[in-house]
Amino acid sequence: MHLFDLLLPPRCGGCRRVGSWLCAHCRERIRRLEEPLCRRCGVELASARRECGCRARLPSLSRLRSAVAYEGPAEAAIHRFKYEGWRRLAGPLAQLLAERLVVEGVSARWVVAVPLHRDRRRQRGFNQADLLAAELRRRLVIALPAGELVRTRPTPPQVGNDRRTRHENVRNAFAWRGPALNGESIIVVDDVATTGATLDACASALKGAGSGPVTGVSVARVNV
Ligand SMILES: [Zn+2]
Ligand SMILES: [Zn+2]
Repeated sequence: MHLFDLLLPPRCGGCRRVGSWLCAHCRERIRRLEEPLCRRCGVELASARRECGCRARLPSLSRLRSAVAYEGPAEAAIHRFKYEGWRRLAGPLAQLLAERLVVEGVSARWVVAVPLHRDRRRQRGFNQADLLAAELRRRLVIALPAGELVRTRPTPPQVGNDRRTRHENVRNAFAWRGPALNGESIIVVDDVATTGATLDACASALKGAGSGPVTGVSVARVNV
């Protein structure tokens, strides 16, 4: 465990108030995504269309679901979790996601995380998506498969890129190292989703290794 976690009392990732890792006030202010959502990619739609036109863009994912909007206390908490090493936020953030997945009826045989390239992981010291996936597995009582989803090449950060560049960046960047996936359903976890390009590239690698339907999930969604 990180020294930080041992020395300091819990402090809210949204507002820094001492007492818990995500205080009741911030929990209340976090904006959950609201219907109507695209039935496939889960983005908020202005009107009650069933899909947003994401089928061609995200061919490998069966579905993408996120719990909350990437703004306000959720954005602050995810930033502290990811870039300032507040690893204990994995619990409350995964809880937001788990609650959403239960409501949406999303389940699967296995849960895996979007991997970081090994160099990035070494730099950061941990993979935030791994911590979220572990908390999610525990909450939904879903297993980790034998084998590993890996990022086979370093990919540039996606922040600020347009949709096309995001897809180009992650194309063929992932691979499944392990036994064949035998048509089993899989959930892939990330902290934040924007266009869904990264999660779709992961789904492509898993389907290439024989998986069944792949659902991408993220704690937060950036509205594009
Ligand atoms: Zn707070
Ligand atoms: Zn869509």
